[in-house]
Amino acid sequence: MKPLLIQGGRIIDPAQGIDEVGSLLITKGKISWLGDGEIAPPQIAYDILNAKGLVVCPGFIDLHCHLREPGFEEKETIATGTMAAARGGFTTICCMPNTNPPLDNQAAIDYVKSKAEMEGTVRVLPIGCISKGRKGEELAEMGELASAGAIAYSDDGQPVMNSSLMRHALDYSRTFDLPVIDHCEDTVLIEGGQMNEGIVSTKLGLCGMPAEAEEIMVARDLALARLTGARLHIAHVSTEGSVELIRRAKDKGIRVTAEVTPHHLTLTEEMVIGYDTNAKVNPPLRTKKDIQALIRGLKENVIDIIATDHAPHAEVDKLCEFALAPFGISGFETAFGSLMSLVHDEGIDLNLLISRLTGEPARIIGDKYGKLGTLEVGASADVALLDPDRKWMVDTEAFASKGKNTPLAGSTLKGRVMATIFQGNLVYKDDSITVKEMEIKGGEAG
Ligand SMILES: [Zn+2]
Repeated sequence: MKPLLIQGGRIIDPAQGIDEVGSLLITKGKISWLGDGEIAPPQIAYDILNAKGLVVCPGFIDLHCHLREPGFEEKETIATGTMAAARGGFTTICCMPNTNPPLDNQAAIDYVKSKAEMEGTVRVLPIGCISKGRKGEELAEMGELASAGAIAYSDDGQPVMNSSLMRHALDYSRTFDLPVIDHCEDTVLIEGGQMNEGIVSTKLGLCGMPAEAEEIMVARDLALARLTGARLHIAHVSTEGSVELIRRAKDKGIRVTAEVTPHHLTLTEEMVIGYDTNAKVNPPLRTKKDIQALIRGLKENVIDIIATDHAPHAEVDKLCEFALAPFGISGFETAFGSLMSLVHDEGIDLNLLISRLTGEPARIIGDKYGKLGTLEVGASADVALLDPDRKWMVDTEAFASKGKNTPLAGSTLKGRVMATIFQGNLVYKDDSITVKEMEIKGGEAG
């Protein structure tokens, strides 16, 4: 592999506190040099990617996605899902275990890992189940899952309703220092729910899911995290009340981290008017007031990271009446574009946004898989090139994901991923990006 020089971009690496115009050299799949000066004349030829006008940052890390394989290959595969991730600027993605069979044992984790190694475009880190078969009855072999390489435990798609089981899961997780990720909702309280409960659900005649169904479980989990001293991670926080509960818990020193999705940060329940099944997601899209609280939570470190909850479905799955459609939004390929609206319109700093997609999720994962989420010299050359101002229209036919299910189809976003580099390889690039070979004349840079 020839070395690659990414030249003249705005390098942003929040983990190192870097925000400067400079260049980045990649050698043998690793970051080998970075700076704002002239690079020493090379002894060997390298390729040059002109990044003038672009942001150069660590490849994004997604702590929460669904790759659907094994078992639901009509919705997504590891091959298509990782390609979609690369198009979205992601170089590390953590997949949830609600596959068929579920990832509740070593063989299942091994399967995903080896499949990802053979067919994947980016790094895939599996999350193991909390309970056997995700049934919420009996703990999975948590030690076996940890040694197989699971980076966290979750029954995502479903909460752990049994508080005693959740307590034991948190207790055991401490042995392996892995977080337990809970999908917080009281399943009894949301029974039959289709969307956020409120004026809009009443008008549409759809059964609602109250914010309290999420908040009750967030409160319970925080209490159990306090009791056990374990690491708790709250998936897809969507309500103002949840943000306040997490804020108070953090103030008290409880070991909790939290994530929010791009859709909960940018879209309201009004998207459901017209019964667009592509806006049906769980937790449901909430109100403007919730969005404001989530943005504030992000700014004030109450919410640590942004995760996509990429949940692809086959087209036919969503072509039905609203009540019958499955929950989920295909999120990899629109994540950055939609999140940039927070920078353009909501006063979120670009450095902060990037940290929530790179260095912060890396901290939750730890260094079991090497140094992630930074452009530090010696780290894996996982890089995203971004144009914060490029406008583009969301064309789901151009998605690499099999899941075309997004309420953003046809809308225009401002902010685009221009190229993605994984372990030194250019795994995605926009047509406008060109790579030129450097000429060497008499040992000097030409
Ligand atoms: Zn979930």
